[in-house]
Amino acid sequence: MQRYSGWRVLREGLAGNRNWQPAWRSPSPKPRYDVVIIGGGGHGLATAYYLAKNHNITNVAVLERGWIGGGNTGRNTTVIRSNYFYPESIALFQHSIDLYENLSKELNYNIMFSQRGLVSTGHTRHDMELMARWAGVMQAHGVDADLIDVAEVKRRLPRLVTEHVHLPVLGGFAQKRAGTARHDAVAWGYARGADALGVDIIQNCEVQAFVKNSAGRVTSVKTNLGEIGTDTIVLSVAGNSSVLAKAAGFDLPVTSMTLQAFVSEPLKPVLDTIFLSLATGLYVSQSDKGGLVFGGGLDIYNSYGQRGGFPVAQQVIGALTEHFPSFGRVRLLRQWGGTVDIVHDSSPILGHTPVPGLLINCGWGTGGFKAIPAGGWLMAYHVATGQPHQIAAPFGLSRFETGRFIDEAAGAGIAH
Ligand code: FAD
Repeated sequence: MQRYSGWRVLREGLAGNRNWQPAWRSPSPKPRYDVVIIGGGGHGLATAYYLAKNHNITNVAVLERGWIGGGNTGRNTTVIRSNYFYPESIALFQHSIDLYENLSKELNYNIMFSQRGLVSTGHTRHDMELMARWAGVMQAHGVDADLIDVAEVKRRLPRLVTEHVHLPVLGGFAQKRAGTARHDAVAWGYARGADALGVDIIQNCEVQAFVKNSAGRVTSVKTNLGEIGTDTIVLSVAGNSSVLAKAAGFDLPVTSMTLQAFVSEPLKPVLDTIFLSLATGLYVSQSDKGGLVFGGGLDIYNSYGQRGGFPVAQQVIGALTEHFPSFGRVRLLRQWGGTVDIVHDSSPILGHTPVPGLLINCGWGTGGFKAIPAGGWLMAYHVATGQPHQIAAPFGLSRFETGRFIDEAAGAGIAH
């Protein structure tokens, strides 16, 4: 990576930044591409990168209606973990952690992956039973997962109140390899890597319609920048998946809802572990800038508004100050929301659609940041080979016909 001195930064600043080399180009769309990826979030950009890197397919465009990473990728709370219940999910999310662990090196771009570990607390006998079952399955699949007692919870989270509260802590579940990463850097790193391999990243380009031939196969997309030809499209638009599926001529079993998050003013280091409570759904970590980054459950109604309603804000802030009363003195810096795509079984949808030539990557709901490397890697494999990889195969749309769901909300007790 190039290094810049402080003088260079000052000089460039005074010169209006004219001499900086852009990290990726801003090309005009070509008339035709081998593959068009709709959505410049982490999943779309990672798909483009792995298509070029792993499969040498470089005549690829990523079409993003706003700016790259401006959707959920740049709005999430960046928790990366693989503590799921079903073997299919464990394989998928573990593949993602494996890729994340080498990503800064692979992209030569510091994504600030910090494997600080995660602790989920149990507050009832039911929580503890669920966690024991969960840790047992993960260990059986060779994934790190430990059940810890209250003393160990306290050691890792000294500010957490565990006794004499209406939700006393009975124990916890810990995953050492869990962590956080800088969300923008994941998008920018994949964008830079894909661009360097020849992929065109086209921002401010909204896909408005699909054109098909008489056999029903896609032949082009209509955008605000004109029509772009292709016979292979990957739809990677998170909370807008059902809107674009409808435009392509099919219905998706996906609803769009708002998930909100919060960040406090920056503090000195006070929390070096990710905390998640099974009882309140609260999760919180401290960012490298010092802010407490936290969130909880989904808003209670469907919406495309990237804001978030008051009832959930009140519930999440209440839970934060109940678990960590000392954080009640901290000032809130910012609150925001993102539109996430919710599937009934809390698992993603990866693979073919009823429209020939159109593949889909969606349904990550509230937990797809952790899956960006795997989602991109698996979609690229599918496009290049014409078949889903064995890790992705169980997550196809066909499960809504066969009823073979992977219900993680029921299995792991958390919906994301
Ligand atoms: P996005 O990043 O949303 O990208 C989709 C892109 O498609 C957008 O940029 C959008 O502008 C573009 N687009 C839409 N329509 C069109 C169109 N017609 N034409 C062109 N482009 C279009 N996950 C975790 O793993 N850990 C977390 O801690 C976590 N916390 C979260 C907290 C919040 C508040 C939110 C909102 C989400 C959280 N998530 C988390 C979920 C995670 O952010 C998403 O699952 C993930 O970012 C999805 O990535 P994506 O690339 O599929 O979608």
